[in-house]
Amino acid sequence: FDALRAADPQIADVILAELDRLRDGLQLIASENLTSPAVLAALGSTLSNKYAEGYPGKRYYGGCSEVDQAEEIGISRAKDLFDAEHANLQPHSGASANLAAYAALLKPGDTVLAMSLPHGGHLTHGSKVNFSGKWFNTIGYSVRRDTELIDYDEVRDLAREHQPKMIICGATAYSRLIDFEKFRQVADEVGAYLMVDAAHFIGLVAGKAIPSPVPYADVVTMTTHKVLRGPRGGMILCTQELAPRIDKAVFPFSQGGPLMHAVAAKAVALAEAARPDFQAYARQVIANAQALADGLAAEGMRPVSGGTDTHLCLIDLREIGVTGAQAEARCDAAGITLNKNAIPYDPQKPMIGSGIRVGTPSVTTQGMTEAQMKSVASLISQAVRDEDGTAAPQLRDQVRALVARHPAYPR
Ligand code: PLP
Repeated sequence: FDALRAADPQIADVILAELDRLRDGLQLIASENLTSPAVLAALGSTLSNKYAEGYPGKRYYGGCSEVDQAEEIGISRAKDLFDAEHANLQPHSGASANLAAYAALLKPGDTVLAMSLPHGGHLTHGSKVNFSGKWFNTIGYSVRRDTELIDYDEVRDLAREHQPKMIICGATAYSRLIDFEKFRQVADEVGAYLMVDAAHFIGLVAGKAIPSPVPYADVVTMTTHKVLRGPRGGMILCTQELAPRIDKAVFPFSQGGPLMHAVAAKAVALAEAARPDFQAYARQVIANAQALADGLAAEGMRPVSGGTDTHLCLIDLREIGVTGAQAEARCDAAGITLNKNAIPYDPQKPMIGSGIRVGTPSVTTQGMTEAQMKSVASLISQAVRDEDGTAAPQLRDQVRALVARHPAYPR
């Protein structure tokens, strides 16, 4: 870091300011985490210099024997950890992994059945502003109005009616377990591929805290930077049968040279995730999310679907008369980072939203447990009700005192 500070103090200052932000605030974005120094070291390594188009042993460039080892180690760790037949560590992001999965299994114009965006699905599951909605005929399924749980009857009915070539499950703002077996049955009934986008919860699967989609899915796509606590990036698991199609869809169809520093960092994170302490962490992530949901409910904020089975909780703020956008801004002022979110059947526009999404991966990595989640719920409650911002400075001090006892990246 001294070299960076000497060469480019402007950017060095930005990086240090971001470190201060992480250290001084509460990080509750469900899709973020705090990676280990080992993962960061791999990311900041000279492997970033290397061109390595292709796959280990079959590269389009010389000098790949070292990066080949990194990728082979990573692939083998991913296969072992998830009991998968094949793994591809090259997708640059979760969206790139999804693009490759579509490309491997579908042709433009094919029909895809996926969770609709306003009910928790991801942009790449058929939004009209994304490749998935522009190039494919996407049909959205919903959650039920009464339970706010996936409506499996609707999934089956829509599958029978539209005969999709692929069904996607996995979401970005759904706090409950997904019944992969039910999705597999529907996919088999209509002859569709089953793709599970496990971006959000794959870290909980790695930590053996929730069931794995691998035995049920044809393809499992994911990000590596959420609960899994690896570098920003994507990854794909699939059956041996689909492996050549998936690999070709990543390179050369949708990407050029892999980011070998990121591939190496994914390998490091996968080794960390295979350790027993990661299993304890994954269980604690869920316990913390449940404690936070209960705490917020006690403060008059309703958890959508009544709670959570995972690392995140969606909170409906309508009863306290605060919008998601207001809550996000007020929490920001108090040093609490979270995001506004649409709730199912939301009367507000997406940029406003009636809810917030909170997640516990980062605070759990910092060593917080249920006792701290009570305090976090109380701080959120005070912050979202702080209309004129008068309480923000004092809340910020309380947040600082709390995180100082559980530091992110100890000094
Ligand atoms: N899929 C799901 C379910 C996600 O929640 C996300 C990101 O939050 C993605 C895919 C895309 O990941 P990325 O931002 O790395 O492209």
